[in-house]
Amino acid sequence: MDISDKTIFPKGDKAPADYFTGTAWIKVLVPNDTIMNCQIGNVIFEPGARNNWHTHPAGQILIATDGTGYYQEKGKPIQVLHKGDVVTIHPDVMHWHGAAPDSEFTHIAVNSSTQNGIVTWLDRVTDEEYYGLKS
Ligand code: MN
Repeated sequence: MDISDKTIFPKGDKAPADYFTGTAWIKVLVPNDTIMNCQIGNVIFEPGARNNWHTHPAGQILIATDGTGYYQEKGKPIQVLHKGDVVTIHPDVMHWHGAAPDSEFTHIAVNSSTQNGIVTWLDRVTDEEYYGLKS
């Protein structure tokens, strides 16, 4: 079964390779504008896929909707995420998110107060970091 057959939202576009390791798909659900100052996107990570380390100047909320995912803040252990988990990420906290090695993962990402900026991309998450050998 194609991944898009069981998802709520369209799969969207391939996530930029500069900021993602592995394959992920992004569908913008609510485009950012100066009235709402809020951007909402659905992200599907294929197994093993994850985004780079990054920060959000105004924070971010992740809502897990399918599969098994990983979330890690710098210096802390990786957290495993399942459908229904919600993660609140405070402004300027360095982190990454993605799928577990053996599962797809889908989350909705809410970026509020976008007048303060949306994301600052940093280094790639190495295999050593991803497999939990180093945080
Ligand atoms: Mn994030």
